[in-house]
Amino acid sequence: MTDVQETEVLILGGGINGCGVFRDLCVQGVSCLLLERNDFCAGASAASSRLMHGGLKYLETGEFRLVRESAEERNRLLRNAPHYVSPLPSLVPVRSRFGGLWAAAARFVGADAKMNDRGGLILGLGLILYDLYGRRFRAMPRHRMLGRKRLDALVAGLSGEIIGAGLYYEGQISHAERLGLELLLDGEEMHPRSRALNHAEIQRVEGGVISFMQGGSVHRVKPKVIVNAGGAWIDEVNDVLGIPSRLMGGSKGAHLVVENPKLLKALNGHMIYFGTADGRVNLLYPFMGRVLIGSTDHRIEHPDDAICSDEEAEYLCAVVGEIFPGIPVTPSQIRHRFSGVRPLPRADGDIGMVTRDHSIVELELGSGTPVLCLIGGKWTTFRGFSEQAADRLLDLLGKRRVRKTDEMQIGGGRDYPRGDARETWIGERAENCSLTPARIGALLSRYGTRLDRILPQLRGGETPLVHLPGYSREELEWLCRNERVVTLADLLQRRTAIAISGDLTPEVACEVAEIPARVFEWDAARKRAEIDALSLSSAGEPMTSEKEASRHSG
Ligand SMILES: Cc1cc2nc3c(=O)[nH]c(=O)nc-3n(C[C@H](O)[C@H](O)[C@H](O)COP(=O)(O)OP(=O)(O)OC[C@H]3O[C@@H](n4cnc5c(N)ncnc54)[C@H](O)[C@@H]3O)c2cc1C
Repeated sequence: MTDVQETEVLILGGGINGCGVFRDLCVQGVSCLLLERNDFCAGASAASSRLMHGGLKYLETGEFRLVRESAEERNRLLRNAPHYVSPLPSLVPVRSRFGGLWAAAARFVGADAKMNDRGGLILGLGLILYDLYGRRFRAMPRHRMLGRKRLDALVAGLSGEIIGAGLYYEGQISHAERLGLELLLDGEEMHPRSRALNHAEIQRVEGGVISFMQGGSVHRVKPKVIVNAGGAWIDEVNDVLGIPSRLMGGSKGAHLVVENPKLLKALNGHMIYFGTADGRVNLLYPFMGRVLIGSTDHRIEHPDDAICSDEEAEYLCAVVGEIFPGIPVTPSQIRHRFSGVRPLPRADGDIGMVTRDHSIVELELGSGTPVLCLIGGKWTTFRGFSEQAADRLLDLLGKRRVRKTDEMQIGGGRDYPRGDARETWIGERAENCSLTPARIGALLSRYGTRLDRILPQLRGGETPLVHLPGYSREELEWLCRNERVVTLADLLQRRTAIAISGDLTPEVACEVAEIPARVFEWDAARKRAEIDALSLSSAGEPMTSEKEASRHSG
């Protein structure tokens, strides 16, 4: 066992909210240690619909503060993380002119009313408000209402029942998990005594000293303040801390990535955000050359039980038929499925109506150490929520904020070249290495300007993977050595987009596994266990969540 290490703040949980608080505190010169039981951004933060959005549907529940904050944070992310966050033209189909008026009024006053039709009038009003809330730091065009003819010119094959649509803009994030990691790496660079550790499990608490296991040994830390950023696991974390709580309720949501070229072509670069016949809201949009479909919304008792069931997958395939009746989507087209639990505050009633806003609950260890629990929050709003939490932590530590984070660029988004500057940036790098401009461009989109750190490893040339030539052995080896990779899943699911894009087949998994096996000197049994933990079907689709798989394999 090691000596007791002192730190000002201990953050438990490395989802986007834990990562955001870590970065903000490092910027203020506060020492912190972040412990993540699994990998960074492996919980809800890996399971979102990947929209950086203002939350159009929260207008219906009257959550105007949340809509304003989300829209502003979306606009900031488009500037601060331009390597991963980009505009997504979005359409809400309309089936009537006046539909949804009563249901909207009922939902606005908190009544439990299903909305399966948002008519043109209600949608138009909503989008005017949405534009208003998103006007600060505006980064994208205002909305337009389209009649059927203009809609057909954008998206072909829509159901004959659709009479028009509202066209507006959201943000979409490609590499959400990488952006979380970049926040941590930025934080560590700004405050070299702060550290974020993944695959670190807390064991017990005694007199304000927390013991945790990482890399096979036990460590001890004595923080002045603790942040519980455990997301849907906040109550479990509090149990381990010896302060039982019942703060969280959870809503499971699942997504599919499907291979359907006809659907991809029909979407023509747009998201369709639509109310379903059963009163839910679903979405589909082009994602890394395939189509992402989501999401379900089911109350769940324990977050570890979240898997995308066959029933949910069939539902998500079928629901596309309400929009594109002539384009069948079948389970055989699924290339990836994922699910996670929205960390919502405990509440009764319709889970879809529970607030998506964030709040902080303050508890205390027996020793008197304050524990701040970060409840709820969207991926989109992580920066604002982190700022709120960091301000309270600074109060508790008797310190003052030295710098805001609202204009701080993140990781590979720093000095990201746009427009004509992109070609110049690529050309300058191409002169000094053997990579083609096209390859440098692809890597720039994948890693942003962080690519400058990777290029020295690639200068001598690359060996493309046999089963996935868009990735090279040298590139993946660099990630293993420099980006806190511990497991094969870390590499396939979070440092790269291999899994989420639907490119993960059993052959790819076996070929990629050779790389960490060599870097970390895994024996054959460990390598096999890492592949088995992915629990892939013969089509490459994960059949259970990674957590489930690890439980099954003991
Ligand atoms: C289906 C779905 C769709 C969504 N869509 C969107 C969207 O499009 N846009 C948007 O903005 N938001 C979306 N969200 C919401 C967003 O993803 C979450 O609100 C956000 O990711 C929560 O982040 P978090 O850090 O609080 O939780 P998490 O990401 O779950 O992080 C909590 C972390 O705590 C760790 N942990 C648990 N126990 C311990 C322990 N004992 N010690 C250490 N660590 C521990 C977990 O492993 C986990 O990594 C969606 C969520 C879901 C589930």
